[in-house]
Amino acid sequence: MLTFAYEKPESLEQALKLLEGGNNARVMAGGTDLVLKLKHRQLKPGLVVGIGRIKELQYLTEKEGSIYIGAGVKINELLNSSLLKDRAPLLLRAAKEIGSPEIRNMATIGGNICSVKANCGACGLPGCRSMSGGGVGPCKYASHADLIPPLMALDAGLVLVGSQGERNIPLQEFALGDKKINLKAGEILKEIYFKAQDNSGWGYSRLSTAKAMGIAAISVAVTLQKNEDNTCSAISLAIGGSFRKPVKVDRIQQLIENKYINEDIIEKIIHTCIEQLEYTENLYMSVDYRRAMTGVLIKEAIQQALGAQT
Ligand SMILES: Cc1cc2nc3c(=O)[nH]c(=O)nc-3n(C[C@H](O)[C@H](O)[C@H](O)COP(=O)(O)OP(=O)(O)OC[C@H]3O[C@@H](n4cnc5c(N)ncnc54)[C@H](O)[C@@H]3O)c2cc1C
Repeated sequence: MLTFAYEKPESLEQALKLLEGGNNARVMAGGTDLVLKLKHRQLKPGLVVGIGRIKELQYLTEKEGSIYIGAGVKINELLNSSLLKDRAPLLLRAAKEIGSPEIRNMATIGGNICSVKANCGACGLPGCRSMSGGGVGPCKYASHADLIPPLMALDAGLVLVGSQGERNIPLQEFALGDKKINLKAGEILKEIYFKAQDNSGWGYSRLSTAKAMGIAAISVAVTLQKNEDNTCSAISLAIGGSFRKPVKVDRIQQLIENKYINEDIIEKIIHTCIEQLEYTENLYMSVDYRRAMTGVLIKEAIQQALGAQT
């Protein structure tokens, strides 16, 4: 292990002060992603600021039809929340896929979102350039985080806090691609918020890199609003995985408006989605295979959404 200072502040204010001190400081929430990066010397911070004791980051509530989740809420706490079972089943469907019970007991929603920029440090496969020489080379899993596609499909927003104050950004503007995220030095992700799901259908489909505890090579989240006559009025679809960055797909609304979704429309949706994705290098699966599988997963997620109602 590397040598670094470790602080566990009790308040957001103390944490921000520590981060302001420079020393190449890094935030640690559950540590399930960060500790691997330290172990493989992909990151060499002088100071690690553990935010697990900060109560201001641990809440989950609904206000006027919107859900507000503190970044420090653990994945298992999401899964045990009756509020989310009713009001955000799409998010819970994706949360169930994360790691193992042990990982879900430690990992947080904020850590999941902030680890969208990279995760190759864990793969350990020969040829993975991120493993050789401290994070050099392109990351093969640029946006694996399972919670990002459902939160994007739900049009989530983020509250980021730094010593200069708070900023609010749409989740879509957080992952910038090429291992970069829209988080300034010294900032902490404080809150994730989104409109509670109404009676829309929803689906989540995922291609894993392994049968057990595999991360998502592709994940598709969708919500669908139906009219009384079973035609569709609105669709929201987001895709994450081994792409340059996760994407909330444009230009599909006009394909479905007030129509019955049939095979032909699904094919058009698939085509429109694939046009908007930037596939990255991946040690497990070729781009051609993943392009074909993207279509399969989109179809699966839409079919789930057509069948499922909240
Ligand atoms: C065996 C294994 C299996 C896994 N399987 C999956 C999987 O199936 N799906 C999946 O999505 N992930 C998976 N992961 C990755 C990881 O567990 C999750 O992404 C997890 O949600 C990360 O949360 P954390 O709280 O542990 O983050 P940490 O490791 O504490 O932090 C991750 C990154 O986010 C930053 N960060 C954390 N919180 C904040 C904050 N509030 N503000 C600013 N920066 C912050 C840290 O500085 C760090 O860069 C797996 C990991 C392991 C080890």
